[in-house]
Amino acid sequence: TKIIMAICVVLIAVKWTAPRFDEESLRGARVVVTGASTGIGEQLAYHYARFGAQIVITARREKVLQQVAEKCLSLGAQKALYIAADMSSESDPEKVVDFALEKLGGLDYLVLNHIGPSPFTVWQGDVEHTKWLMQVNFFSYIQMAWRALPSLEQSNGSLVIVSSLLGKTTSPFVAPYSSTKSALNGFFGSLYHELAMKKSNVSVSLCTLGLIDTEAAMDKVREVVNLPAYPATDAALNIIIIGATRQLELYYPWYTYIIVVTKDWFPSITNYIVQNSYNYIP
Ligand code: NDP
Repeated sequence: TKIIMAICVVLIAVKWTAPRFDEESLRGARVVVTGASTGIGEQLAYHYARFGAQIVITARREKVLQQVAEKCLSLGAQKALYIAADMSSESDPEKVVDFALEKLGGLDYLVLNHIGPSPFTVWQGDVEHTKWLMQVNFFSYIQMAWRALPSLEQSNGSLVIVSSLLGKTTSPFVAPYSSTKSALNGFFGSLYHELAMKKSNVSVSLCTLGLIDTEAAMDKVREVVNLPAYPATDAALNIIIIGATRQLELYYPWYTYIIVVTKDWFPSITNYIVQNSYNYIP
């Protein structure tokens, strides 16, 4: 009981001391959202639109982006532009940032959210896939962040990185994906310190998400694991708030924080629970 009470006290203190979110601050804000054709990225675009932002969205499927952009305009976006790009290419990540800088005349938020598809399965030695996924889920993030940094410096801007509980803990069947998310946490955690130490006015937000009910995620885990999935629209709103209030970390939903804080206290129990959460017969 003492441990549970201590955790509750910490959670309440964190909630109380969190800066207030002023949605007016997003009116006219210049925002790039990646992976915005479906899932959490699409919901991010709709929320920014409702707040009256100027948005550039990107993903590979141009037709779908066009539909999302049209909906953004109908929801109240001041601008909603789209650019098709493949983040597995060497040059597309920078091309997207350049497009946004040209069309919006600067940048306030760079929200990096896209992921390439990756199988939910036992690791079978596919190093090529892992390298490819590293380009899509990790290297493209650092390429875009570096390209956007001078402009974010000028605007007191924010870098928002959508990561995962699987970047903070270990779990079976997701070795390539998990390594890309760990890389993001390591890289942007380091960049955060460097920016803070040189008194940069660019904020970094790292988002640790648990299971969210996007089609892509549910298709993978439906038969395999029994975990509650939280709504993508709510996850997206929380990501926007953490960026707008310039906080370093989001844990969504709440249980992700408990897992990250307690996983090293009782490693054998944690590993037992992880390994027995899946319907897996070798
Ligand atoms: P989705 O699979 O629904 O969406 C992925 C997006 O990335 C799509 O818009 C897709 O569009 C785009 N994309 C895929 N490949 C490429 C590529 N090569 N180049 C450019 N864009 C690409 O993902 P979710 O919404 O479920 O996840 C969003 C974020 O949230 C990710 O960072 C994920 O790791 C994180 N997260 C999600 C969880 C969940 O349970 N859903 C849990 C924890 C973290 P297109 O096909 O048109 O290119």
